[in-house]
Amino acid sequence: MSAVVKNVQEESLNLFTSTQIVIKEALEKLGYSDELFELLKEPLRMMTVRIPVRMDDGSTTVFTGYRAQHNDSVGPTKGGIRFHPEVDEEEVKALSMWMSLKCGIADLPYGGGKGGIICDPRKMSLNELERLSRGYVRAISQIVGPSKDIPAPDVYTNSQIMAWMMDEYSRLREFDSPGFITGKPLVLGGSHGREKATALGVTICIEEAAAKKAIQLKGARVVIQGFGNAGSFLAKFMHDAGAKVIGVSDAYGALYDPAGLDIDYLLDRRDSFGTITTLFEHTISNEQLLELDCEILVPAAISNQITAQNAHNIKASIVVEAANGPTTLEATKVLTERGVLLVPDVLASAGGVTVSYFEWVQNNQGYYWPEKEVIEKLNKVIVESFNQVYRVSQDRDVNMRLAAYMVGVRKMAEASQFRGWI
Ligand code: GLU
Repeated sequence: MSAVVKNVQEESLNLFTSTQIVIKEALEKLGYSDELFELLKEPLRMMTVRIPVRMDDGSTTVFTGYRAQHNDSVGPTKGGIRFHPEVDEEEVKALSMWMSLKCGIADLPYGGGKGGIICDPRKMSLNELERLSRGYVRAISQIVGPSKDIPAPDVYTNSQIMAWMMDEYSRLREFDSPGFITGKPLVLGGSHGREKATALGVTICIEEAAAKKAIQLKGARVVIQGFGNAGSFLAKFMHDAGAKVIGVSDAYGALYDPAGLDIDYLLDRRDSFGTITTLFEHTISNEQLLELDCEILVPAAISNQITAQNAHNIKASIVVEAANGPTTLEATKVLTERGVLLVPDVLASAGGVTVSYFEWVQNNQGYYWPEKEVIEKLNKVIVESFNQVYRVSQDRDVNMRLAAYMVGVRKMAEASQFRGWI
């Protein structure tokens, strides 16, 4: 067996166990007891539901869904719902733990939650998606609510799905409940800026990281893996900031132009799942995309993309994780040793939940803010979050991922102690 193959087998590709490893390390660094790790090593609550859905052809399909609530010591749990064929129980658990960390880093009054349904929305009609969304809310309605657990969009879910879910919950409770879910359309109590919030948060992290590395954003070469909600808005923001977006990709392949891609054209022509490469004859692979010569690389697609296999070939000096879990722990080590500034997912993608929090606050007070105010508030939160994590990484001589976990678990640890849980 070659050394390379051995590496792959030993690498921590399981998101749930690698999250546990870093939480344990963070708690140890902060001097907390093993008991606290026992409390935080998995969600406090995990619900599995089976949702029968009448399909358009008259048949019934039974879908499996999950809702995980990691820790509610700080406040209600919060996090998106993912519709994807590869959703599984452990992934949902890990994602709920990451939500706790994101809320801790951004100092939001929430713990982490996450939901998922095993389905392929690309192969379902709008009517089928509506019935599935409503069925899921009926199935989990006992454990969610505006001051219990507040869902939001995630991979392959959007404001329309949030609207159906909010409507179903409001019917069940027999009163209007806009604060039950975030990421809603504006007319149903959504917030200005929510749709582009994740990409804005990533942009702010890129600006901060570039300043630390003395890289000018204007003219910098940027590569973005993924052209969904985060990736596509980010391409636009980078393009508008004068950076040169030389590579982007979707699930099927990637586009590369050393002179800079025509982002406006791509935004105009993509489908609702972010597919663009099918429009072109000449494409490169997602693997090739990651290794392109550039200053800034943003994995904004799926997990385990930068591994021990390819971490040595990454040319970027800044890697900003807009996706959840795109870099393995081994690759994190390699990149850090090579002097790459890695901005971890729990920090880089905290913009979405931050504006979700603003949306919930606006729903609770029934008073809505202009976009400028939302963006200013978001900017303040992400700049502070980035610099706090950066400072801990410098002061404690740890990589940015461990530093982010240290910042992220602190509030949850203290709140659990004050409540007398440990
Ligand atoms: N799904 C997004 C995330 O993973 C947003 C969650 C939210 O807005 O509650 O951060």
